[in-house]
Amino acid sequence: MVKQLSDFPRVSLCHQPTPLEEMPRLTSALGGPKLWIKRDDCTGLATGGNKTRKLEFLIADAIEKGADMVVTQGAVQSNHVRQTAAAACKFGLDCHALLERRVPERAADYETTGNVLFDQMFGTTLEFRAAGLDMNAEARAVTEKLAAAGRKPYFIPGGGSNEIGALGYVSCAFELLDQIKANRLNVGWIVLATGSSGTHAGMLAGLHAAGSSIPVMGISVRQPEDKQIALVHKLAESTAALLTDEPLGVEKVIVDDRYVGKGYGQPTDGTLAAINLIARREGVLLDPVYSGKGLAGMIGLIEQNYFDADKDVIFLHTGGAAALFAYSSQFAVAAE
Ligand SMILES: *Cc1c(COP(=O)(O)O)cnc(C)c1O
Repeated sequence: MVKQLSDFPRVSLCHQPTPLEEMPRLTSALGGPKLWIKRDDCTGLATGGNKTRKLEFLIADAIEKGADMVVTQGAVQSNHVRQTAAAACKFGLDCHALLERRVPERAADYETTGNVLFDQMFGTTLEFRAAGLDMNAEARAVTEKLAAAGRKPYFIPGGGSNEIGALGYVSCAFELLDQIKANRLNVGWIVLATGSSGTHAGMLAGLHAAGSSIPVMGISVRQPEDKQIALVHKLAESTAALLTDEPLGVEKVIVDDRYVGKGYGQPTDGTLAAINLIARREGVLLDPVYSGKGLAGMIGLIEQNYFDADKDVIFLHTGGAAALFAYSSQFAVAAE
């Protein structure tokens, strides 16, 4: 049964539309296609970021189901946990989060600064876990325990990445198509960092439901191309199915895994260079885990002449600058 986006319950959390801005000084530095940036770092919730759009649908679902708290999970410096914690405060829900020690060899203050500091400000209760567990299974088990103890917990998967959360990026796709039209852009590509998949999948589902053929390049921040394509396709297909009878084929899911480096949460020299470049050229703050890798990928593809030079390229800024504080020592070295 096909629905409209407006048929789904939704709360208001996000400053929207987020701006679509030109990046003339980055464009001239790279000498490639004309570059634009979609400012989803400016979604407004507790320093912003892409999880805010997903939470408009997830929190609404939680409230509709009578929840008195939300339970979620992420890496220690999770932007998703920070935005979920803030959203829970706004709607009078408690928030409990499991944080995975997913990133090796971190700075001394990695577990207290940046996003963790904000989690604590929002009164979120935190539990740490060792790396490598099935974190959604861990969080589900905790959710069941809380329910057995008489709470009304609502489980939000890591990154808010299920069909409900992905609707946030269906909404972003519709919003971006309106902006593309208003600015009369001829867009060759949309480029974004892809992790737990909801952003990439929702964007693809939204473009597909709107009949747009603009391709989306997902720069993997964590896993090999084949695994990431399968993850994104599964969610893109099921999200699109809520909105259209037209199936979303796997050929629409495009991923480049050459910018991951050693792994999740470990920026490469290219990541740090990309962050420094856009800071100095455009006054924009990216993050070392996601958007910095995404921009490093976009720069690499420009250098390889991958994009049509006559068409505009839009970089989706998914936020995350709050995590920079947990990586400050790496930037002291990387700065010229
Ligand atoms: C979570 C996150 C992403 C990745 O989005 P997914 O929907 O998990 O793929 C990208 N950038 C930032 C800053 C994030 O916090």
